[in-house]
Amino acid sequence: MPQDLLDQVHGLEVIFSVPTEKLQSVTKHFIHELQKGLSKGGGNIPMIPGWVLGYPTGKEKGNYLAIDLGGTNLRVVLVKLNGDRTFDSSQSKYKLPHHMRTTRNPKELFDFIASSLKNFIEEEFPNGCNETLPLGFTFSYPASQDKINEGVLQRWTKGFDIPGVEGHDVVPMLQESLGERGVPINVVALINDTTGTLVASHYTDPETQMGVIFGTGVNGAYYDVCKDIEKLQGHLPNDITPDTLMGINCEYGSFDNEHLVLPRTRYDAIVDEQSPRPGQQSFEKMSSGYYLGEIIRLVLLDLHEKGFLFKDQDVSKLREPYIMDTSYPAKVEEDPFENLEDTFDLFQKDLGITTTTPERKLIRRLCELIGTRAARLSVCGIAAICQKRGYETAHIAADGSVFNKYPGFKERAAAALNDIYGWGIEDRHKHPIQIVAAEDGSGAGAAIIAALTQERLASNKS
Ligand code: BGC
Ligand code: MG
Repeated sequence: MPQDLLDQVHGLEVIFSVPTEKLQSVTKHFIHELQKGLSKGGGNIPMIPGWVLGYPTGKEKGNYLAIDLGGTNLRVVLVKLNGDRTFDSSQSKYKLPHHMRTTRNPKELFDFIASSLKNFIEEEFPNGCNETLPLGFTFSYPASQDKINEGVLQRWTKGFDIPGVEGHDVVPMLQESLGERGVPINVVALINDTTGTLVASHYTDPETQMGVIFGTGVNGAYYDVCKDIEKLQGHLPNDITPDTLMGINCEYGSFDNEHLVLPRTRYDAIVDEQSPRPGQQSFEKMSSGYYLGEIIRLVLLDLHEKGFLFKDQDVSKLREPYIMDTSYPAKVEEDPFENLEDTFDLFQKDLGITTTTPERKLIRRLCELIGTRAARLSVCGIAAICQKRGYETAHIAADGSVFNKYPGFKERAAAALNDIYGWGIEDRHKHPIQIVAAEDGSGAGAAIIAALTQERLASNKS
C-alpha cells in the first residue's frame, strides 16, 4: 500500500478503535444512566416498564396471533402454545412498501397491517374464524406504556418518519383499521422486540437474563424488581408486590445523547445531523445495522474529496445517502480473496467505481474497524445491566440481522465482554456471561406475553 493510504488507514484506526479502558468507562457511565432512567425524574435512557409480570411458567396454552412491524417486513405469526415449554407456529411475511416508512398519512400504515392480517386469517382459517383471536403486537420503537395494551410512541427511530404517530397510542390506531375491515382480532399486548426476545428465550431457557437486539436498531430488555423501579412507586396495581419482577424495555439506543463518553468521530456527528431525529439515539447511531454502511460511505467520500481515493472516478452514486446498507461491509468482510475480488465487483457493479487493490485493502480495514467498533460498543449495554442486577452468570439471548449475519460479530462481541470483565478466557463458550442465539421473540415471545396477560386479567376478575 502506498504511504499516503497507509497514513489514512492509521488515522482511521486511531479514531475508530475502542480500547478496553474506554469500554469500561462507557459501561460505568451506562450503569449510572440506567439508574437515572428508573428514577422519578427519569433520564436519557427511557427504561420503559413493559408490564410483563414475572417469568412464563411454560404452561401457557392456546392459539395466539403475533405481528412484528420491522423495517422491511411485516411478519404475521400464528402461534400455538402447547403448555409444555414447546410451541408450533406458522407465519407469513408481507413486504412493507418502501415509501411506508415515511408516508405522510399514518392511516396507510395501520391499514396495511390490518389488510395483511385479514389475508393471513383468511388463509389460515379457510372455513372462517369464529373466535376473536388475541394478538401480541411487537412494535420495535420506544413506546410508553401505562398498561400492557398501550404504546404511546415517544419518537420514531431507524429512519421511520411518519407524522401524527409520535405522542399517540398506536393500539387504537391498529384496532380501528382492523374494525373497519371486520377482522376478528383483539390487540391484548404491545411488546417491544427485546421484551419478546427475553420472554421467548426464558420460556425455553430459564438461565436467560436479557433479551437484546443487534439489528437495524440496538436495544435490550431485562427483568427488574418493582421496588427498584422508583418511577413506578405509587402507580402500581394492587396485585403487584415490591418483589414482583417486571420486564423493562431499556431503549438504551439513546444512551449518551448528551455526548459525554462515547468515542464519537466527526463522521458520527454527520450521520446524526443528517438523520430525521438529530440528537436522538446516539448509541444506536454508532452501533446498529441501519447506520454502519452510512458511516463507511461518509468516510470513503471524505477520503475521495481529500484526493486519497477513487481518483478520476465518478462517485455520484456514492454521494447518495444510505446507498450502502449493512450488506456492503458484510460482503467486504466476507471477501475470501487476497485481492478482494468480490469487493471489486461490489463497487464496480453497484456504485460504478473501479477500485485499485490498495483502495480495496483500505476499504476492508475500514469495514473491520466499523464492524468491530459496533460489536465492542454494543456489549457495554449488556455488561451494564448485568453489573446493575448483580448477575455473575447469565445467558443473554440475542437476535437481529447484525448478530445473525454480520461476519465475526459474535466473536467480537464476546471478546469485548471478556475485555470489560477481564476474564481472560479464550473459549467464548466458557464465558460466565454468554451471548446466545435467541428464540423467536416477536412470534413466540409476543404470544407468550399475550397469554400471560390474559391469565392475569382472568385471575384479577375471579
Ligand atoms: C428501537 C427499539 C428496538 C430496537 C431494536 C430501536 O431503534 O427504539 O425499540 O428495540 O431498535 O429493534
Ligand atoms: Mg425486528
